[in-house]
Amino acid sequence: MEEKIEKNESYWKKELTPEEYHITREKGTERAFTGKYWDFHGKGLYRCICCGSELFDSETKFESGSGWPSFFTPVDDSKVEEERDSTFGMIRTEVKCSKCGAHLGHVFDDGPKPTGLRYCINSAALKFEEKK
Ligand code: FE
Repeated sequence: MEEKIEKNESYWKKELTPEEYHITREKGTERAFTGKYWDFHGKGLYRCICCGSELFDSETKFESGSGWPSFFTPVDDSKVEEERDSTFGMIRTEVKCSKCGAHLGHVFDDGPKPTGLRYCINSAALKFEEKK
């Protein structure tokens, strides 16, 4: 299990931009095709914008056509937590950072092999780190 970190609202407000705060701490969603990573192809690691936890590897990123960065697996299953989300009249599975609880996006079962999963993640919840 990841060691959890808990910070209050004012801490995150200070650390994050208003958009990052809205998406990660208030379960917001950036508009499709507007984030910095949906059409980004760097080789490296995507970390949680809030706590820096390693979440996704560029090796598992694929072109989903959705307008959000999409991955077929997290770096490790322990890195993310899933929760049922029934807002907006849809049943979806929310994906959160297991370390700090940040809302990342949703996971769908229409992804490519080998997992068949599509982790549809907000760019604003991620921070890319190039592989050295
Ligand atoms: Fe986090």
